[in-house]
This record gives sequence, structure tokens and C-alpha cells, in this order.
Amino acid sequence: ASGALGGNVALFRQPRGPDLMRRAQPLDDWYALRMRHGVWPYNRRLEGAPGPLSTVEGDGLPAARGINFASQDYLSLSAHPAVLAAAMAALAECGPHSAGSAVLLGNSRLTGALEGLLGELLQCRHVVLFPTGWGAAFGAVTALVHGADHVLIDGLAHASLRQGAMAATRNVTSFRHLDCDHVRELLAGIRAMDSQAAILVITEGLFSMDADSPDLPLLQYLCREYGATLLVDVAHDLGAMGPGGTGVIGAQGMIGKIDMVIGAFSKTFASNGGFVACDAPSVRRQLQLFAGPHMFSNALSPVQAATVLACLRIVASPEGETLRAALMRHEVELRALLKDEGMRCIGAPSPIVPLWTGTEAACRIAGMLLARQQVFVNPMEFPGVPLGAARLRLQLMAQHTPAQIRRAAPLLAAAVRKAGTAPRPALAPSA
Ligand code: PMP
Repeated sequence: ASGALGGNVALFRQPRGPDLMRRAQPLDDWYALRMRHGVWPYNRRLEGAPGPLSTVEGDGLPAARGINFASQDYLSLSAHPAVLAAAMAALAECGPHSAGSAVLLGNSRLTGALEGLLGELLQCRHVVLFPTGWGAAFGAVTALVHGADHVLIDGLAHASLRQGAMAATRNVTSFRHLDCDHVRELLAGIRAMDSQAAILVITEGLFSMDADSPDLPLLQYLCREYGATLLVDVAHDLGAMGPGGTGVIGAQGMIGKIDMVIGAFSKTFASNGGFVACDAPSVRRQLQLFAGPHMFSNALSPVQAATVLACLRIVASPEGETLRAALMRHEVELRALLKDEGMRCIGAPSPIVPLWTGTEAACRIAGMLLARQQVFVNPMEFPGVPLGAARLRLQLMAQHTPAQIRRAAPLLAAAVRKAGTAPRPALAPSA
């Protein structure tokens, strides 16, 4: 890692200098150096639809068709005939865009139906839609939290939540990942000093880097005990896990019992967009009028709303159960095969299998070696995860086949082994 990344951490800090258009030059040099060694497993392009077999091209990577573990389409609903038909019908009936903010004339019959159906799944009375999952997270936190309030946020929570918290108040404290004792200690500390401050506790249903989940009943209990509010981001688990697709919240028996649930339509729901769901009508009004990404961005398009609606219907149907079962079979088989190969996968059964590489260089090199063998995976490294904790993130889809899983597992293991022991290319010490 030291050779390939060490000094590079500085590149992620805000570049300084008076010339706004040139001061990021060191970053470009850093990229060019990696390109000379053919190691740039990012910014790739997908040709055609995301699916278990996809055609991918990238910088220094000729277009090739291969096994795709790099797209987020957990139940393979982006290829489902009912979803495609719903999207096309909405396009024909309503045209391609919403042409307005939800606070003006951007809503449609379809967005209304989506709010209703999502509220039913989550057993929440109120749902507010956002044009992206990012906007839902950032918008909810910044609209609700003020400067004197406190935010306690899991150390691995998504950037949209963290940046929202930091934009809302200086009183942001990270708690150790999944550590409820730490949350209790921090809540008690804040309450001992200030009985009036509002406190928002932020976590996720399924953490997409570590593939693990918090104890939601305990967190919600602690929030009640200390007069705090719990927010859970279910971007990765809703639809793909839990009874009836209710995600980790449903699996832990907490459906309808969490203060605030937010999520994204960009994974299982084959579209883009996000939502906030809760039971308080005043929170709904507050978000509609004060959450920037809801108010100052145009609403979900009719095609997006129709797509998500069609996905929701499948998610809650017996077919959804069948798709989730297929997804879990792939997950269990892939983890077992990788374990037999001596690989280290972290986290618990979910659509995500994080395959540990440790160093950033090994992660990127393994990603590149795999792409050359037509296996597409996403490297996860700093700043997405802590330094030295790099991993390849494998995301499964219901439509992967057992044959694909069995073909990929030894290739994945061989690439990680080779990258871990490969001599590092001679990079400039500062690069
Ligand atoms: N929350 C989490 C936990 C995420 O992983 C992501 C990004 N995939 C988002 C929010 C943002 O969602 P979107 O990509 O739909 O904007």
C-alpha cells in the first residue's frame, strides 16, 4: 500500500492554490502514472443493460463481455418484463420527465401511488420522495437537524449521511461501527450536559462495505430511553432481504417501529431516486418545505416512479420471495467456495460479499487482473473504507447462475493471491 497509495492520501484533501482550473494537476499526474501501469479499475462503462453477464469497457480495458459482480441490481429486476413494460407504458403516457419540483407541479398519479405502496411495505404513514438516494439522506438530515443539535453516526455510515450531518451541525460524533454500548455512552454524555438538545442517531440496515447490520431493536430502545431519534438507511437491504422484502428492519421484527427510514431506488428497485418514511405528519411537511434536494430539484420522472412501483409489487409478491431465495443461494455458495480457496470474506449473508485484500494496491491490481479475465468487480479502498482495509466488493444478482459462481470463485481467489504477492510496479515515491 505504501508504494501505491501512501503519499496519495494527500490527493484526497482539498487542493490549494489560486488557480482553480489547474490546482488538481497532481491528481491527474497520479492517474496518468497508474494508467501507464494499466491499473485503473474505475470509471468503467457498461454497454447495454446491467446483468449477470455484461459488456464492460474502461480506461485501458477493451470492451469485453464477462461475469458482472459490479452492478447493483440485486433481484435482477432491471430485466424483468413487467418492470420494462411499466416503464415503457409510463413513457408513452406521461413523457420522459417530470418537468417540475415536487413542491410545484412535478408529482403525478404515479408518484402518489409510489408513496402509498412504499408506506404500506414499511408500515409508515408518510413517505417523501427524492430524486436520488443521496438527496434523501443529505436532505433529511440537513432539513431536520440544527446547529445546537447532536448527531451520532456509525463510523461506516454512507457519505451522504455523514456530509448531511456535517452540513447541519458541528456536533457530529462517530460511534464505533455497530457498537451499541458506545452509542449508550455518548447519549448519556450528551444528556448529562444538555437535556434540551435534539439528538439524531444514524445507522444503516445493511452496510455496503462490510455487509453487516446493527442491532436495531437495541438502538431504537436506546433512542427512546434518551429522547433521541433513530434514522436507518435501507438503501442496500430493502427489497433484497427480509420477509416480504422488508429488509433488515423486517428481519429484526422492527417494521413500523423505527423513527425514520430512508432509502434509495438505485439498487433493488431498478431506477434512481430515494425516500424518507416516518409516522409524523409534521416531519413530512418539514421535509417537503425544507429539504433542499426535494424542493429545489425536479421530482422523480414518471418512468422512474412506474419502474419503482412495478419493482415494489414484485418485491412483495411470492415471486419476490423466490428471487431473494436464489440471491441467497448464490451468496452462500460464493462465500463457501471462496472460503475453500483460503480467501477471507467479511460480513454476514446478504447480496454483498466483501472479499478482503487489505492493501489498496492489491485491491486495484486484483480488480484489473479479474477484468482481463472477464470478471468484473468493484475495488473498495480509501476513502470509501479505512486505509489498509481494502476489499473487492462482489454484488450478487438473482439471475447469476450457479455455473457463473463456480467459474468465478477460483478466478477471484487466484487474482487476489497473485495481486497480494505481485512485486509492486516501481512508482515514484511521492505518487
Ligand atoms: N445510502 C447508501 C447506504 C448508499 O450506499 C448510497 C449509494 N449507493 C446512497 C445512500 C445514495 O443513493 P443513490 O446512489 O441512489 O443516490
